[in-house]
Amino acid sequence: MRVRQVTLKKEVYFKGKGIHSGKDSFVVVSPADEDFGIVFYHVDSGELIKLTPYAVKDVMLSTTLGTEKVTIATVEHILSALAGVGIDNALIIVKGDEIPILDGSAKPFVEQFLKAGLKYQDSLRKVVKIVSPIELNVGDRAIKVTPSENIFIHYLIDFPSSAIGMQEYSIDVTEKSFIEEIAPARTFATTKQVQDIRALGLARGGDHSNCILFSSNGVVNGPLRFENEPVRHKILDFIGDLLVFRYPIIGRFYISRGGHSLHISFLKYLVKNTSNWEIVSAEKVVGFYYNTPTRNAFSSKYNTL
Ligand SMILES: [Zn+2]
Repeated sequence: MRVRQVTLKKEVYFKGKGIHSGKDSFVVVSPADEDFGIVFYHVDSGELIKLTPYAVKDVMLSTTLGTEKVTIATVEHILSALAGVGIDNALIIVKGDEIPILDGSAKPFVEQFLKAGLKYQDSLRKVVKIVSPIELNVGDRAIKVTPSENIFIHYLIDFPSSAIGMQEYSIDVTEKSFIEEIAPARTFATTKQVQDIRALGLARGGDHSNCILFSSNGVVNGPLRFENEPVRHKILDFIGDLLVFRYPIIGRFYISRGGHSLHISFLKYLVKNTSNWEIVSAEKVVGFYYNTPTRNAFSSKYNTL
């Protein structure tokens, strides 16, 4: 991981329908100055939405950010892509009310970001360092994080549908592992869930091109990109939701039966428990220090993707 802040070398564009609204939206991700952070700009209202757990307006099926006046739905996959490739500063200009679902994964976002290129900035990154373990339990669901010098995620899902069932996956999150093992994992649902969700007027834009569908007989629209694609997608969602905290959180995460609601509840819990973490310059985290391109002989290896 890098210690210097990063933005894009040039603007990138995305166009497509939202999985829940079914409406087309247009997104421009634009380079931004140091310490700007990731900020959404809702074109039709002129509202700016900064990343904070308190900007989350809805967590049913996707993560929706907003102000008192407007909302932008399904932000988790584009945020996951930004976090995964390590972009600190960008303005996300959205013409519409939902981020396009594209193929249901973070891969199209990652590809465009890498194609545009990453620009290193002078300032050091700020990160959240976990200094003592913290755990949130909600019924049989839980998230725990312990101190670490890099990001590790263990995720467990347990679906009643036998086609998905119980899946567990662990990963040391680096740019490389994110791009290869997490970013391509797509959104998924069971045929029963789709019926229930559609009855609520959601998932209007969901189809076989952007969502893996599981019936009691197995995958309806295969092939899968990974045999355990659902649990990998939950990790993708978690990485995107974590960025809502504003800065990357460095720690070992253990998530059991999570979802957007639990992810965001955990962030709010963390905000309140200030003795468990601190915001530090990335070079203060040893894992970063030793991988610092400007500070050791292995420089170029870590400075490029
Ligand atoms: Zn997702």
